[in-house]
Amino acid sequence: MCEADSLSLSLSPEERELIALLREEMGLPDDEAVLHMLVRQAAQRVAITCPSCGHYAKRTAEDEARCRSCLSVIKLVEGIWQVSG
Ligand SMILES: [Zn+2]
Repeated sequence: MCEADSLSLSLSPEERELIALLREEMGLPDDEAVLHMLVRQAAQRVAITCPSCGHYAKRTAEDEARCRSCLSVIKLVEGIWQVSG
């Protein structure tokens, strides 16, 4: 009946209402698209794309991140994320 029901998440009625509001605000086609968007936006604050393997690397500091996939240490050098070892 609802697109969000295909997700393996238990959302409260209040959360579903908020997602519906966000869906309108963002102009997205369905609730699932809203969740995908929110996850990506939130991830940008805590992770970067690993330049070495393409997986997500969790930021450990303002200018440093560590990739759990290839174990690279990535550092922000002059505005560019670079594998440092
Ligand atoms: Zn990596």
